[in-house]
Amino acid sequence: MEKVILCTKNKGKLKEFKELFAMLGINLELISLFDLNEEEDVLEDGNTFKENAYLKASFYFKKYHLPTIADDSGLCIDAIGGKPGINSARYSGFGPKENIKKVLKELEGVKMRQAHFNCDICFIDQDGNDYYFNGKVNGYIGYSESGDNGFGYDPIFMVNYLGKDVSMASLSEEHKNHISHRYNALLEFAKWHSANNLKEENNE
Ligand code: IMP
Repeated sequence: MEKVILCTKNKGKLKEFKELFAMLGINLELISLFDLNEEEDVLEDGNTFKENAYLKASFYFKKYHLPTIADDSGLCIDAIGGKPGINSARYSGFGPKENIKKVLKELEGVKMRQAHFNCDICFIDQDGNDYYFNGKVNGYIGYSESGDNGFGYDPIFMVNYLGKDVSMASLSEEHKNHISHRYNALLEFAKWHSANNLKEENNE
């Protein structure tokens, strides 16, 4: 099976990607940065999710000369101009709990609470060509935290799941994996990858 390096040092994301690859039937063997004992970090100083995904994927492609896949994701809230956006992880400067507090404070008295999670994926193939895939999940910001699952902004991100409004953190991992922004982006990648594989097989 063709190998691809997943450019993340986040163990949760590695697990999620492995599950999503299996679920979507993506025929690639994922190599993690842990498998490579990789110590170098990439400075994510792009201006967009897409640029940051490219920065990660291209850094490890140049180093290992193997196909790479990287994602960059975050929460975008309409009422505050798309913030926290690419700064989602470092929004308050004091970690996830404080990030949530900052968002709730900024939305005090605000009725328009629409938001979405965004995920951009960059895939670099063996020849160094880069390809991009996007996924989103729409929802709104609740007034308080609820649910014990997930991570980051999940406790305040409300989605409609089977006709009921629930926080993303109230969904099981399996249910989140069927609606998440990463699922939607990887679904686009899976469609592209299987179409591409077919083309290669037909050319042989
Ligand atoms: P990353 O750069 O893709 O690792 O994600 C950046 C940040 O976006 C995370 O640290 C979280 O704050 C937020 N984020 C991304 N995806 C999710 C999610 O599925 N749930 C909650 N927060 C998320």
